[in-house]
Order: sequence, then C-alpha cells, then structure tokens
Amino acid sequence: SKEVGRNSFQLYKASMNARSLERLSMLSRFQSALECNEFELHYQPVQCLNEEHISSVECLLRWQDPNLGMISPAQFIPLAEELGLITKLDQWVINRACEKMAFWRHQGIQLQRIAINVSAQHLHQGELALTVANALERHQLPGSCLEIELTESSFISNLHEAKSELKKLKALGVSIALDDFGTGYSALSYLTKLPIDVLKIDASFTSKVPDEYGNSEIVTAIVAMAKALKLKVVAEGVEKQVQKEFLKQLDCHYLQGYLFCRPLSESHWLRFYQEHIRS
Ligand code: C2E
Ligand code: CA
Ligand code: CA
Ligand code: CA
Repeated sequence: SKEVGRNSFQLYKASMNARSLERLSMLSRFQSALECNEFELHYQPVQCLNEEHISSVECLLRWQDPNLGMISPAQFIPLAEELGLITKLDQWVINRACEKMAFWRHQGIQLQRIAINVSAQHLHQGELALTVANALERHQLPGSCLEIELTESSFISNLHEAKSELKKLKALGVSIALDDFGTGYSALSYLTKLPIDVLKIDASFTSKVPDEYGNSEIVTAIVAMAKALKLKVVAEGVEKQVQKEFLKQLDCHYLQGYLFCRPLSESHWLRFYQEHIRS
C-alpha cells in the first residue's frame, strides 16, 4: 500500500505539473490572443414574450485560437479570472459591443439594448463605470443602450464597493442584470442591497419546466418575486415550445434560448434581424 501511495503521489505530481504548464501556456496564448484579435463576439437575441419582438442582444465572447480552434468561454473565462486578466478582457468586450451597437443604430436597426457579461470581480477594481463611460462617449451612445449582466462566478466580497460602482453605471443610464439567478453565489440579498433592474433565471431551472418536480414551482416563485420587486425577468435556456408556453402563462417578460435563436456571428445575427422584422 506504501507503493500505491507513492505511485499515486507521482501521478498527482505529474498532473500538477501538466496543469501549471497548461496554465502558463494559456497565459501567454491569452495575452497574444488579445493583441492578435483572436477574440470575437457572437450575439444572442432576447425575445419579448408579449409582442414577440427582439428587445436586446446578449454578447457572448468567442476565442478562435489558430491552433486549437474555438475555445469555449466556459473554459477560458474562469482561467482569465484566476490569472487576473478578466478586467482587460471585459474592457475589450465593452468597447467592441458599444462600437457594434453604434454601427447598427446608424444602419437603422431598432434594438433597445445590447447586453454585456461582466465578471463581478471587475466591480472590485473600481474602473468599470469609467470604462463604460469612456466607451459610450467614444461611440456617441446613450447609456440606456447598454445592459451589464453581472456573472456570479465569484462572490461579491465588498457589497458597499459594488453598490457604489453600480450606482455610477445607473447614473449613466445603464441597466444592471443579475445573471444565472438561483445558482452559485447569486444571492437573494443582492436584490435588495444592489441596484438591480433585471433578473435572469438560470437555464438549469427553465430547461426542466414544466415536468421536473420542483422546478416549475421555483420558476413560478422567481417570476412572482421579480415582479413584486419591480424587476424585469428573463428566462434563459428556453429550448422547447412547452417551456415557452409555461413562461408565457406566468407572464414572464423575456425569453432567451435556442428555441428563439442560438448565439450567432454578426452577419448571421443581422440576417436573423432582417428576417424577423419582415415576418
Ligand atoms: P451566460 O451568460 O449564462 O450565457 C448563456 C450561455 O448559454 C451561453 O454559453 C449560450 O451560448 C448558452 N445558451 C443560450 N441559449 C441556450 C439554450 O437554449 N440551451 C443551452 N443548452 N445553452 C444555451 P456560452 O456562450 O458558452 O457562454 C458561457 C458563459 O461564459 C456565459 O454564460 C457567461 O457567464 C460567460 N461569458 C460569455 N461571454 C462573456 C464575456 O464577454 N465576458 C464575461 N465576463 N463572461 C462571458
Ligand atoms: Ca449572461
Ligand atoms: Ca446566464
Ligand atoms: Ca451561465
């Protein structure tokens, strides 16, 4: 058993080394990716359940590595957070999103808002509102065109600090959404302590309605609570017609998911938009 212990330790050491090597190479690849423009945004429209029109689009980051191909944000966002690179990446996204929104508006595209995912970690660095203000100014956009989705991969450790940063964003006219509501660190207390406008119900709940026990009750309760707090509600990850029917009957405000539209490249999204307004 001593032998087994030693072997498993060697194995552990080997995998540790592989892991840190992987990290190191990821770090350098990531930095060059930022310089070489290997990141791009895809867009997923959000549908208004009442009028069936497109109310906004959410920007979803894509990394096209020349050697590895498409790397999913689920893989590189947590790493970017850990390596302290997320702020830089978020800044790139904020600027690109504002640039695109301004361009589309010039083309006559009628969209209330463009939504951007921002790591809650960014709130602690105290530059989010400044970055947003600069991007809005550079692209001559009113703040009301922008929605910031707070992703809760990390705990908001300083609520006071977070609140003051969010208040600056609100003063610009920007709306604030709490993403992945009901999972992880996305806490109920944030709803009263932070100036939140929109609540996004996590796909893990909506994807299981109406049949899986407990989920319908949770979704019903979240929608009712959001309304009582005068928040807008978006149901994420809606893939089936029965789910849409269920949400419609709850009078949930917005819907997002493969049923309506998948995340699309810019050209595909613009085509989707044209077809949607014609139909
Ligand atoms: P999220 O913000 O919750 O985004 C929704 C994710 O679900 C996206 O995955 C989207 O492609 C996927 N999705 C949308 N509709 C459906 C559906 O009907 N069914 C299923 N199964 N999936 C659906 P994606 O693009 O891989 O992004 C994963 C996460 O990475 C995002 O989750 C977000 O937390 C993070 N992320 C993406 N872009 C950014 C970014 O620019 N900045 C930051 N900080 N995080 C980002
Ligand atoms: Ca999101
Ligand atoms: Ca989400
Ligand atoms: Ca998510």
